[in-house]
Amino acid sequence: MSFDLNDDQLAFQETARRFAREKLASGYQRREVEGRIDRALVREMGVLGLIAPELPEELGGLGTPSLTSGLIAEAIGYADVNVAYIQILGSLNGKIIAGHARPELARQWLPRLVSGEAIVAIGLTEPRGGSDAANLALSARRKGDSYILKGEKSSISMADQADAVVLFARTGTPESGARGVSAFLVPMDTPGVTTLRYNDLGSKAIGRSSIFFDDVVIPAENRLADEGAGFVQVMQGFDFSRALIGLQVLGSAQASLDESWAYVQERKAFGAPLSKNQGVIFPLAEAETLVSATRQLCYH
Ligand SMILES: Cc1cc2nc3c(=O)[nH]c(=O)nc-3n(C[C@H](O)[C@H](O)[C@H](O)COP(=O)(O)OP(=O)(O)OC[C@H]3O[C@@H](n4cnc5c(N)ncnc54)[C@H](O)[C@@H]3O)c2cc1C
Repeated sequence: MSFDLNDDQLAFQETARRFAREKLASGYQRREVEGRIDRALVREMGVLGLIAPELPEELGGLGTPSLTSGLIAEAIGYADVNVAYIQILGSLNGKIIAGHARPELARQWLPRLVSGEAIVAIGLTEPRGGSDAANLALSARRKGDSYILKGEKSSISMADQADAVVLFARTGTPESGARGVSAFLVPMDTPGVTTLRYNDLGSKAIGRSSIFFDDVVIPAENRLADEGAGFVQVMQGFDFSRALIGLQVLGSAQASLDESWAYVQERKAFGAPLSKNQGVIFPLAEAETLVSATRQLCYH
């Protein structure tokens, strides 16, 4: 399989690399200390077409192949692994909303998501465990034209910076498993929604939080697809976002390698650069091999 990039993809890659170099790299540590990503920066990404460009043009996207989003995540991850997450969230949630929201709801949120005006988080994990994603407890009870949400999501990235969350909740009986899970788009300013941020070791610019839903009332129109279809949606979305996350973090791995190569050639000991020692450069060569292989797998 060939991954020769076409002119369009090379242009996106170059735009993302320039933005990363000129606008992101120097502010990485400051954003980590501040624990947030400036909204002006997110809007700038949107203007440059660096958020979910694969979405259809009629919904604000640029209709590019999915690979373009991966190239962007990789180029931005090279300078700031946290900011690359904006693109990944945009692609993951953008695809779920575009594929399953009612047209009016999709038109209300997607152009804002692509332009960087709105950030949408993904709310799946709960305190009792994330891997067993079909076993959700947060309940969505139908009442007339609304649903009432009650429960807690945990470990949700960007929850306290997001404008809305794609939320997975149980509409079926407690025993209904994956078939009883439905998805909703919930604005974070809905009464009864609160967040509590964790004190994480790193990636503080993104930040993780619990989100509490205390009898939150949302219109039934905010449900994404049919009742009981939520589990399939999220799993299909993850198929794509896994590859994007791979590229986000290998962008940052490549940056570490490039800095290491430069350093071992410049730093001298015993009258020669460190790079003259095989014990120094063999691990770097091996890491290059692994990063190159991972890149091909993620592009594929
Ligand atoms: C930085 C970060 C950001 C995150 N952002 C989000 C987010 O935005 N939205 C969101 O919904 N979630 C998010 N998560 C949560 C993440 O998806 C969960 O951590 C993940 O699903 C694992 O769930 P858990 O931590 O509850 O572990 P558990 O599911 O409780 O698993 C505990 C341990 O058991 C092992 N295990 C589980 N099942 C099996 C099995 N069947 N066989 C063998 N071993 C098993 C696991 O490997 C793990 O070691 C984030 C997590 C992190 C670390």
